[in-house]
Amino acid sequence: MIRTSNLQKIFTTEEVETTALNGINMEINQGEFVAIMGPSGCGKSTLLNILGLLDNPSDGQYDFFGTEVGKMSERQRANLRKGNIGFVFQSFNLIDELTVYENVELPLLYLKTPAADRKKKVEAALERMNIMHRRNHFPQQLSGGQQQRVAIARAVIADPKVILADEPTGNLDSVNGLEVMNLLTQLNQAGTTVIMVTHSTHDSGFAHRVVNLFDGKVVTEQFH
Ligand code: ADP
Ligand code: MG
Repeated sequence: MIRTSNLQKIFTTEEVETTALNGINMEINQGEFVAIMGPSGCGKSTLLNILGLLDNPSDGQYDFFGTEVGKMSERQRANLRKGNIGFVFQSFNLIDELTVYENVELPLLYLKTPAADRKKKVEAALERMNIMHRRNHFPQQLSGGQQQRVAIARAVIADPKVILADEPTGNLDSVNGLEVMNLLTQLNQAGTTVIMVTHSTHDSGFAHRVVNLFDGKVVTEQFH
């Protein structure tokens, strides 16, 4: 389970303080699919980055499946992230110089997975995301929908407990957006916890629960 208690995040830039998160209390169970919504600037990405161990909170507790991570060093967080967390971004964030295959393989290289095992896993993920036929292409040679499928393959390659997705359909047309939502739903049904930021009520309809943020606070929640 993921549990936050009074999570705060204050950014300080050139003497200006911004309170991005102002006391977030959340509990997310293993296997849940949660959508986070709210107006621009309300703290959605900041929350997702902290939940995904990309950033640390300024204050409060964060329990990630039994490990308190609120005060971990960057290095400790990076270690816990490996194999536990997969990220999907609106802008796909693929490495342009690497092929589809190499992008998806990357997390396994960090995990020092043996070569034969890597090959098996990468091919399985490419098949699952229906992108095997583009394995030797570079990201710029793919459509947005195809790039996002590669990004999802990369996010799931190490079989993470949690997938975090920040507006994963934000740069896609409705057909490709629907495909991405179907893939996230399949992963969730196979047991992966999915936490997704979205502006789309269509996309949030796929979640079990919608958490609405405003000014760095949870204001309402709806269960589906
Ligand atoms: P959302 O994703 O809901 O649009 P964000 O989480 O990106 O909102 O941002 C929340 C608030 O924190 C905003 O006021 C934003 O300007 C500020 N903020 C986010 N990241 C930083 C940063 N790295 N440095 C300074 N301010 C930031
Ligand atoms: Mg954002």
